[in-house]
Amino acid sequence: MPTKHKVLIAGSGPAGLTAAVYSARAQLRPVVVEGEPSSTSDQPGGQLMLTTEVENFPGFPDGIMGPELMEAMRAQATRFGAEMVTAKVSRVDLRRRPFAVWVGDPEADEPTYETDALIVATGARALMLGVPGEDRLLGYGVSTCATCDGFFFRGQHIAVVGGGDSALEEALFLTRFASKVTIVHRRDRLRASRIMQERALASGDIEFLWTHQVTEVLGNGKVAGLRVRHTQTGEDGELPVTGLFVAIGHEPNTAVFRGQLELEENGYIRTHDGSLTNVEGVFACGDVQDHVYRQAITAAGSGCMAAIDAERWLESRGE
Ligand code: NAP
Repeated sequence: MPTKHKVLIAGSGPAGLTAAVYSARAQLRPVVVEGEPSSTSDQPGGQLMLTTEVENFPGFPDGIMGPELMEAMRAQATRFGAEMVTAKVSRVDLRRRPFAVWVGDPEADEPTYETDALIVATGARALMLGVPGEDRLLGYGVSTCATCDGFFFRGQHIAVVGGGDSALEEALFLTRFASKVTIVHRRDRLRASRIMQERALASGDIEFLWTHQVTEVLGNGKVAGLRVRHTQTGEDGELPVTGLFVAIGHEPNTAVFRGQLELEENGYIRTHDGSLTNVEGVFACGDVQDHVYRQAITAAGSGCMAAIDAERWLESRGE
């Protein structure tokens, strides 16, 4: 028999856990399906579990480690009665009322949960290169967020991989700190918009390593260089950098909602009037619906909005 809840929150990054704090304090006893441990950003705690120090979350003048911040948010949510479940949502049926949510075996006849309102906060994941050393040195010189980590690379030579708007934006931002930024791009032409290209090319602090792929991240404990390969000649070389920013795109974690929730062309959940989706009673917050700001603090703010929207919607139905 499925367990019935008024509010189920899928995801436990800053958006999901803020939604949990608000829903729990509103006496809605939310259940949070927090994800499963893995090396990617859909694990409990989300992308902040993959960063080291967070210096731009207000309230922490000396900074706080990403995992520590998420543990504090989790403790705050449980203190008010949010129930945490370490599992992933494997299937949903949003045509039924209450909504049906499966964790574990998606083929099971019975859903695991039924819920009146659903808050989707499953986040996004940075696409990674998948080369040796990248995973091991993530947080130790390998980063996916210049806004978060750029400051730690003052005076250093760092590389950014990618040729789209994200890569150029990251590279331009990093020139504030780095002594030199090298963009490693697999082709001889950028994908980024004209204006970003002009800015990057005009910046005297960015160098381009065209038609090269990163094949390995080198270093023992922290990044000490990159092995790179010319994509046409196959010739191998080394780039002596102490940081690597991977900026080859992001992907929202929306697979289980496809075909049921309306998505933007780029795969993010389409929201309107705050956190509302095309399905009444389903709310979305955080990076799963935001490809523009993508900050912990904006995700937390939108999680608060989703919880308030859900609470008001339940109230309007007399629940
Ligand atoms: P994107 O436009 O998809 O660009 C990804 C880049 O990474 C491409 O240059 C691609 O190379 C490269 N790449 C992909 N997989 C790779 C791999 N395995 N190894 C090496 N390189 C790889 O992604 P994005 O830059 O994140 O942008 C996403 C969307 O957000 C775009 O619509 C963009 O305009 C928008 N955006 C806008 C702004 C802004 O306006 N300020 C800022 C950020 C993002 P190829 O070119 O060879 O395919």
